[in-house]
Amino acid sequence: MEKKTTNIMEINDIVALVKLASLLFAGTIMLQCFFAKASVQNNKLYEECSIIGIGFFIFLLLFIYVIWSFSTSKRHLTKTKNNIQIIENIIFMSIFFIVILISGGNTSQYKVLFLFIITTTTIQSGMKRGIITALISSLIILGIDIMAMPKAEVNIYFENDLILCGVFILTAWPLGYYVKLANKSINKLTSLANEDGLTGLYNHRYFYDALINSIKEVDKKKCKLSVIFLDIDYFKQYNDLYGHQEGDNILREIGNILSEYKKLNFIPARYGGEEFAVIMPFTDEKKATDIAESIRKKIEKKYFKGQENQPNGNLTASIGISVYPDRAANEVELIKSADDALYKAKFFNKNRVETYTSILDEIKGDIDEKDIELVTSIKTLISVINAKDRYTYGHSERVVFYSKILGEALNLTEDEKRELKYGAYMHDIGKINIPKEILIKKMPLNDKEWNMLKEHPQNGVDIIEPVKSLSRVKPIILYHHEKFDGTGYPEGLKENEIPYLARILTVVDSFDAMTSNRPYNKRKTYSEGIEELRKWSGKQFDPKIVDAFIKTLKENVDELNSLR
Ligand code: GH3
Ligand code: MG
Ligand code: MG
Repeated sequence: MEKKTTNIMEINDIVALVKLASLLFAGTIMLQCFFAKASVQNNKLYEECSIIGIGFFIFLLLFIYVIWSFSTSKRHLTKTKNNIQIIENIIFMSIFFIVILISGGNTSQYKVLFLFIITTTTIQSGMKRGIITALISSLIILGIDIMAMPKAEVNIYFENDLILCGVFILTAWPLGYYVKLANKSINKLTSLANEDGLTGLYNHRYFYDALINSIKEVDKKKCKLSVIFLDIDYFKQYNDLYGHQEGDNILREIGNILSEYKKLNFIPARYGGEEFAVIMPFTDEKKATDIAESIRKKIEKKYFKGQENQPNGNLTASIGISVYPDRAANEVELIKSADDALYKAKFFNKNRVETYTSILDEIKGDIDEKDIELVTSIKTLISVINAKDRYTYGHSERVVFYSKILGEALNLTEDEKRELKYGAYMHDIGKINIPKEILIKKMPLNDKEWNMLKEHPQNGVDIIEPVKSLSRVKPIILYHHEKFDGTGYPEGLKENEIPYLARILTVVDSFDAMTSNRPYNKRKTYSEGIEELRKWSGKQFDPKIVDAFIKTLKENVDELNSLR
């Protein structure tokens, strides 16, 4: 769509230039005629006045037209465009009519001026309009010829002009036909460029453009926009069993279900291989959840060939939702948060709909009014750290997520769960002072760099120091790099000397570090991560906590692995 718009704008610019040139010609002809008249009458004053007057008039016309075409080119897609063009054409034809009258009426050599308006109209508005303009122009010219010599038996001008009128029509007709063909192929190419060949939905590229435009649109009206991300459950298994062609049929069928939502002015797209996304402008979270739930149910109820061999004997999909501007401030955050929500839906047994909830929003609910500003700035700190080290992107959120399930498994009290959640969210904020080069360094750190890195727990505590309501979170952050055998930092505490919640955080933090991409090592699979936890159990980690975590993970490890 972007490309097509650019083409139309370029053509409009050229047409505007041609019209401008035709005005210049018209003006020059008028001046010429006045010169000629003035020299015949030999009246100096008359000559000067008319030159100044006509010159000013032409200048004014040009000025108005430049402003006019500039403003209309910006409005090229509006409905008023049609009427504007008709008015513009009438004005141009009137000017040419006057020029012809001034320059001799039926004897004028400038009747061809009408060709300008015929070609520009045909290019802009197509064959029908072009031919109509050609016919009207012909009528005007022939009309002038007849009016000038009404009683002549042989009207030579009329006869000559019949040929000119033929030229008018024969210009408009093939040119209009060509424009029609060109528009047709532009439309075809545009839809090919925006469409996903397999499902007929919009493609990934179009999705992005459309999302940015839709956000602008809802912004103007101060409304909300929801995005859903949909991923087919256990699709790899289906492909493995029936082959990719059958798999593609499923994608087509899901595409059909989603394309129904175009009717609601939603934008359903194939985001990736077997991932779909739907942009829902002017839709709040409640409505988006209802729609997502109905999509999920449709897929659940529909019979897909061979679905009996899928887990639970059914082919299903998981859906994540996020809402602009409530949950995300821009398109990048919106996509990421909808994807996070999808991750959550997959984690909780799939075939379900999950909405994105920001940990910061949850924390804000528990925090004193006066500290909210500070906590909000902590989020900024976290995003600065994330930006420095793209490998840890989403790390805090994932650590919170793991802490939650482990907290449940360990039967923590509500207060402990809350403290652990805050600790998990903020544990890395002390890294704000560490240069990016150290955070992403591939080689082993030298002593100086290592000492700098080791300061981050204390720096983190210093940052949240002023927030009274977070005082119980401080030990979790301070000691999350202590090791069970006493070889950790900053204080080398061991076993029960390390606060319980800090020991929990150490396990989940390390697990996420192992299983996500790092500059210095390739990420491990969840099973490999579990092996690593086992290996260091009793050395780096509290064995009881490791056992509980492995048990919870094992219950979900298939799902976790299939997320890759
Ligand atoms: P999960 O339930 O966690 O989503 O598991 P999954 O097996 O669906 O895993 P994932 O979402 O990572 O899906 C990846 C699989 O999707 C890999 C591949 O078999 C399949 N896939 C991706 N693109 C296409 C495609 O264009 N056609 C077909 N037939 N299959 C595709
Ligand atoms: Mg997938
Ligand atoms: Mg999938």
